[in-house]
Amino acid sequence: MELQVYGYKCRKCGQLHYPFRMVCKKCKANEPHGFDPVPLPKKGKLLTYTDLSTLPADFNVAQLTLGIVELENGIRVTGQVRIPKPKTGMAVRINIETVRSSEFGKNLGMVFTAA
Ligand SMILES: [Zn+2]
Repeated sequence: MELQVYGYKCRKCGQLHYPFRMVCKKCKANEPHGFDPVPLPKKGKLLTYTDLSTLPADFNVAQLTLGIVELENGIRVTGQVRIPKPKTGMAVRINIETVRSSEFGKNLGMVFTAA
């Protein structure tokens, strides 16, 4: 099963939000208008990235790369970059995978791979 992340579209003005917000950032609408979940695109462009080498002690990797990706619909998301030699501006695919595992469990998040 492929996991999916959703954005939230304002029912009044159509503005898309991610992550979820209680109040629309464009028209300031709130309940009773509300928001409709919309699947986020699986493709985007790598805007920037950075390598992290000083992770908290309970990470089971020595180093990881974080990046910011602009999705096809303009929404920007943060996640882990799993590309050997990333380049800003490159096309990436957005996957939902384990981003951290420890003896207490696993955390899912966005992982960017080369498109
Ligand atoms: Zn709105």
